[in-house]
Amino acid sequence: MVYLKTDEEVELLRKANLLVGATLAELAKVIRPGVTTKELDTIAETFIRDNGAIPTFKGFPNPYGSSFPASICTSVNNQVVHGIPNDTPLKEGDIVSVDCGTKLNGYCGDSCYTFAIGEVSDEVKKLLNTTKEALYKGIEQAVVGHRLGDISNAVQTHCEAEGYGVVREFVGHGIGKEMHEDPQVPNYGRRGNGMMLKSGLCIAIEPMITMGTKEIYMQEDRWGIVTRDGKPAAHYEHSICVRKGKADILSSFEEIEKVLRLNH
Ligand code: MG
Ligand code: MG
Repeated sequence: MVYLKTDEEVELLRKANLLVGATLAELAKVIRPGVTTKELDTIAETFIRDNGAIPTFKGFPNPYGSSFPASICTSVNNQVVHGIPNDTPLKEGDIVSVDCGTKLNGYCGDSCYTFAIGEVSDEVKKLLNTTKEALYKGIEQAVVGHRLGDISNAVQTHCEAEGYGVVREFVGHGIGKEMHEDPQVPNYGRRGNGMMLKSGLCIAIEPMITMGTKEIYMQEDRWGIVTRDGKPAAHYEHSICVRKGKADILSSFEEIEKVLRLNH
């Protein structure tokens, strides 16, 4: 069941999503070699709760009867998504995708940013840039009168043109009172296919892109998803609202990127 959102609901979704952006910006301030993903999790959880919201990831169930133990997913290098924060210090040349979700006044925010730790190789930089570009290519298609497959196809073709893998098993989603609502938003598909996009449709678009094969497997903790060939993966995510002519991006990387520019 797809729920189109009223203007009031869109503003509530924006608040929850801007809080995710602000949380990720707090993390951007401290992300450097030596910091652990568990430390990042503590900062994120404190910041989210101090702002009157709930970290939606904490306690989120999986089909194997376990609940996610942290407030953010931190996926390092060959981890694609759902990495559990741990005590291993990040090191120069690593990348970490930090996925974060909030619930504020009953509405959900969901956004993800992949950070480089210190200097990363040109190869990895290109993977990050291409994945972020693909996200915006997808968003460009998220306008009234287009179809869901136009978004999916834009993401897929942009990444496959560079020889990258587009993960099939995990997809974007509708967002509202629930973090995961209909419809599913795959990162692959055919133009002109899928549901017609209407004003007020709020979705999270989230390319999960690998440098090598698109094949993945689940780690023993039954959360972390890693690439089969061990090559790195990137993940960027915005929550957006479909509008006429141009999508309204509800989350934001602005604060994050301001911090990153100041740190360099
Ligand atoms: Mg997310
Ligand atoms: Mg999501």
